[in-house]
Amino acid sequence: MPLKLTSQQFTRSRLNRFGFSFGIELSRNSCFEPSRHPVLNSVKMLGGSILWFRHGLRLHDNPALRNAVNDRSMPFFPIFVFDGETAGTKVVGYNRMRYLLEALNDLDNQFRQYGGRLHMIKGKPADVFRRLWEEFGISKVSFEQDCEPIWRDRDESVRATCKEVGVGCYEFVSHTLWDPDTVIRVNGGIPPLTYQMFLHTVAIIGDPPRPVDDVDLGLINFGVLPDSFYKEFEVFDKAPKPEDLGVFLENEDIRMIRWVGGERAALAQMEQRLAVEHETFCKGSYLPTHGSPDLLGPPISLSPALRFGCLSVRKFYWSLQDLFQRVHQGRLSSSQFIAGQLIWREYFYTMSVNNSSYAQMEGNPICLDVPWRQPQADELQRWKEGRTGFPFIDAAMRQLRTEGWLHHAVRNTVASFLTRGTLWLSWEHGLKHFLKYLLDADWSVCAGNWMWVSSSAFEALLDSGECACPVRLGQRLEPSGQYVRRYVPELTNMPDKYIYEPWKAPMEVQQRAGCVLGRDYPPPIVDHLEAAVRNRSAMQELRRILDKAQPHCCPSSEEEIRQFMWLQDVPQPDVATS
Ligand SMILES: Cc1cc2nc3c(=O)[nH]c(=O)nc-3n(C[C@H](O)[C@H](O)[C@H](O)COP(=O)(O)OP(=O)(O)OC[C@H]3O[C@@H](n4cnc5c(N)ncnc54)[C@H](O)[C@@H]3O)c2cc1C
Repeated sequence: MPLKLTSQQFTRSRLNRFGFSFGIELSRNSCFEPSRHPVLNSVKMLGGSILWFRHGLRLHDNPALRNAVNDRSMPFFPIFVFDGETAGTKVVGYNRMRYLLEALNDLDNQFRQYGGRLHMIKGKPADVFRRLWEEFGISKVSFEQDCEPIWRDRDESVRATCKEVGVGCYEFVSHTLWDPDTVIRVNGGIPPLTYQMFLHTVAIIGDPPRPVDDVDLGLINFGVLPDSFYKEFEVFDKAPKPEDLGVFLENEDIRMIRWVGGERAALAQMEQRLAVEHETFCKGSYLPTHGSPDLLGPPISLSPALRFGCLSVRKFYWSLQDLFQRVHQGRLSSSQFIAGQLIWREYFYTMSVNNSSYAQMEGNPICLDVPWRQPQADELQRWKEGRTGFPFIDAAMRQLRTEGWLHHAVRNTVASFLTRGTLWLSWEHGLKHFLKYLLDADWSVCAGNWMWVSSSAFEALLDSGECACPVRLGQRLEPSGQYVRRYVPELTNMPDKYIYEPWKAPMEVQQRAGCVLGRDYPPPIVDHLEAAVRNRSAMQELRRILDKAQPHCCPSSEEEIRQFMWLQDVPQPDVATS
């Protein structure tokens, strides 16, 4: 493998990248008030108010909804526009698309209980809103802030249309705990470079706002789309199926865990999650999904619900804080640590807002130019399809494709396996795959985690040997091997002793288990030990070259690295595959 790191490469990359300073942008929390506009005079003046759903697919803690219905005399149009991008629909697998459509269906059903409906329309948001303005003279469009730069063109085009015709445009921050623009401003115009600096900055800003009150939908005057709309746009009478939008199940459906999208399911899940949190707090602990990862039971994760905004992050955050206070009666101060993972989410969003190259190496000022290899033969495909010959990796990659879900520790393992741990392939390949298949795939959160795990943006480098060994981590997290047996049925009868390293099983054991390597299950794609040693020296070389780098993104401390990567306190040697 050509793993040689040349000093020119890194010096060049440092100069190009770390010389960059983040520009301070004007806040996008805009509020454009309707003015007396000449064109308005020529349209019918029934008035109307649009709530434009993108993320934030909920009724609770929805400041945009409150704003949209504050004048109850106006017809109210809750709308979702299928524009081929919104809510992460550009590259999307079956599971996430279905989750989104279930969330829309849930909103539609909730509105229907009050005589309304969610208008689901295919088209470009600016065109849809312009037509509504022509029909009704709508006077305002309200929406939740989508802070990532990938949404900027879409939002700018809607703002420009609204401005042109004199419609008020109102944007509200409720997808994040703090407004990323405020965090950047308080941090002196650049995003905080470490998580600790981020915590420090938000401590200066103060507690995030509590959720806003629910809206009483009973008194709302729901608008009805004119017939002409049905001719000009594709309007769905009820939430479509993924197949209606050209998204099909790609692989055999061996799903064990079925995630259900929608606000009502998310609120019920949060209650279950709070019961687990309660038990954990009573034991004097916190972060239950980290303390005892359960790869087999029903997941208690809320990340898909948070990603689509079916659950308000502020509601979850404050429910946790209040619960902690109730359990400890003020004897312990909760501060931010009990919601530490939610704050990682904030951190990654904030790092991305002014960096449109955040999800790629090219032109990305916070990402190192690690000279990753080009994929050879079918090795990338084997990683994606779960055919690497490492059972823990293969189980995970198959779970991802079939269910859209992976536990955080498992994500770390497959990510480091693809990048600096074993294969030495670019994190961009992994990101693309995750962005398609993960239920909770979030552009900035996913890219941030990939850069972190691959040491591309936060280069206080770990030794590759500590890079979540694909054998040892499996053995530690799920000693019974049931996780592997669930997703890699070829290994069902492999004895526990060999379940994570079947290459060590003698031939007669393989034959008895009905799983002969090379015939029923692939041999390891690489010699892991050899690769780990080679990668470690490449990373050490990189560290040497970067020794004198200017301040840049990096982990806050060794402790943070260990926690993030699920490493043991005592480093474990890598496992050999031959
Ligand atoms: C390579 C890789 C890619 C990832 N991609 C995504 C992604 O696209 N979307 C996503 O939501 N999470 C992503 N994560 C983070 C993490 O794995 C999931 O958020 C977590 O598994 C969700 O489980 P939970 O709800 O039980 O988390 P908990 O530990 O209970 O945390 C609560 C919430 O905090 C947020 N959170 C937790 N961990 C992280 C983290 N490391 N970074 C940012 N936010 C976090 C999530 O919203 C989560 O629901 C990724 C991690 C890795 C290693």
